Amino acid sequence: MSQDTIKQMPHSDRPVPARWQRTLGGVISCAGIGLHSGVHTTMTLHPAGADVGIRFLRTDQGEDDAWIDARLACVSSTQRGTMLRNANGVTLMTVEHVLAALAGMGVDNARIEIDNEEVPAMDGSAVPFIAMIEKAGVVRQDVPRRYIHITAPVRVQRQNAWAQFEPADHTALDVSIVYDDAVVGRQNIQLALGPAAFKKKIAPARTYAFAHEIEALRRQGLAKGGAEDNCIIIEKDGIRNAGGLRLKDECVRHKALDCIGDLSLAGARFIGRYRSFCAGHALNIAALEALMQDPRAFAMVVMDEAGKLTCV
Ligand SMILES: [Zn+2]
Repeated sequence: MSQDTIKQMPHSDRPVPARWQRTLGGVISCAGIGLHSGVHTTMTLHPAGADVGIRFLRTDQGEDDAWIDARLACVSSTQRGTMLRNANGVTLMTVEHVLAALAGMGVDNARIEIDNEEVPAMDGSAVPFIAMIEKAGVVRQDVPRRYIHITAPVRVQRQNAWAQFEPADHTALDVSIVYDDAVVGRQNIQLALGPAAFKKKIAPARTYAFAHEIEALRRQGLAKGGAEDNCIIIEKDGIRNAGGLRLKDECVRHKALDCIGDLSLAGARFIGRYRSFCAGHALNIAALEALMQDPRAFAMVVMDEAGKLTCV
């Protein structure tokens, strides 16, 4: 291990990155339909050893060939959700919300058994997954957590949309969206990420779709399971869902939720700021790929007893 100390402990009013890896304290299941496939799925979260990361197992596909790592190299589609595929062609759709819940609540290692092709949508947010994680408990493992420490900016741009990593002394998000319609319009959220902020400010935000897009999505074989109980449906003049919005800027908060899930596919948390403008899953993944391909832009670090970050 290099002894090069490259950063001081973050400012005390910000969530301090945790030193140790964590896993679940027990086993817990949920069931529901997939947002896009409409298939009914049972999903069970299990603890996993240090350095395992997050691994899915499609139990309906046989144990030997059906492990899918929640890693960037396994991303196979980013059309209205993030899909993973392993080397044997076994796929899993819409992984981003459960991955966001695990990353947001500080779980590094877990094994997730799932008996169909898509993670259950539940209510379209991360709240049901957080409830599962809290019920199972989160336990510390005696192996240091590795972080991706951003040391130089990396930016990707597609038309007017862009996403950028930049150095910061903590983990921060700055996410903006702009739509032409009056219901969503322009929204921005900036926050320092830690479990408390994630649970309160991000997790309740549900996925959303514009009513005029839904027929087109269904013609593409998507949104078959989408309904008002798992998706905000935005009409020209308001929200179709009877209960309205949970938060007035729920859409951009959901974009931040998606970012957290997508960026967790790096296999380690980052210390730095992620800024995005009108970015979806494709741009989140493109930004992460650009970062990983630029070794000058990041260093892998662990935290020592004094809270200092040290290169590994
Ligand atoms: Zn989402």
